[in-house]
Amino acid sequence: MSEVTINNSPVHSDTILTAVYGETGPNWSRFHTGTDFAPYGSTPASPDLYSVCSGVVVNVIDYDPIIDQKLGNQVIIRDNSTNNYWRYCHMATPSPLGIGQTVDTNTKVGVMGQTGNAFGIHLHLEYSTTSGWDYDDFLNPSDALGIPNVRGTIVHYNGTTPPTPIEEPKKKKGWKWQIFHRCKYL
Ligand SMILES: [Zn+2]
Repeated sequence: MSEVTINNSPVHSDTILTAVYGETGPNWSRFHTGTDFAPYGSTPASPDLYSVCSGVVVNVIDYDPIIDQKLGNQVIIRDNSTNNYWRYCHMATPSPLGIGQTVDTNTKVGVMGQTGNAFGIHLHLEYSTTSGWDYDDFLNPSDALGIPNVRGTIVHYNGTTPPTPIEEPKKKKGWKWQIFHRCKYL
């Protein structure tokens, strides 16, 4: 069993790959189009999900069992460095993000879940050259993240990504002091 540590994991604690890109079998019509992350070790059963890149939200799809029974709550992010697209699927609740919002690896994009056609709570993470999500356009998300495309791999988050900075308190305007200063010494 292999283990890997990365700083742009979609979960900021330990996960295990429960299915990987390109697998075939009765669960998938052609092949498995994403990499599946499930909680591992002390990670909560339904952890928060984070962006794996700096990018822009290009679509948010709330789960509707009539329109789409497969992928559940989704958020789609265009990666600034590659212009490819990441799609997070099966999220527990609709993404808190809006279209056009910029994200980085400290941005929470949702919560891991099993909405849609999913066995158990996991993240199905896809990567594609287009936002049309055609079979011909899919890329291997494991390769893009630098993790082995091997079922059972344990993915650690290195935790070195700095937290979102706390906003500095606004400085007081100095005009009152300036007036006082001038009156005293002019
Ligand atoms: Zn999957």
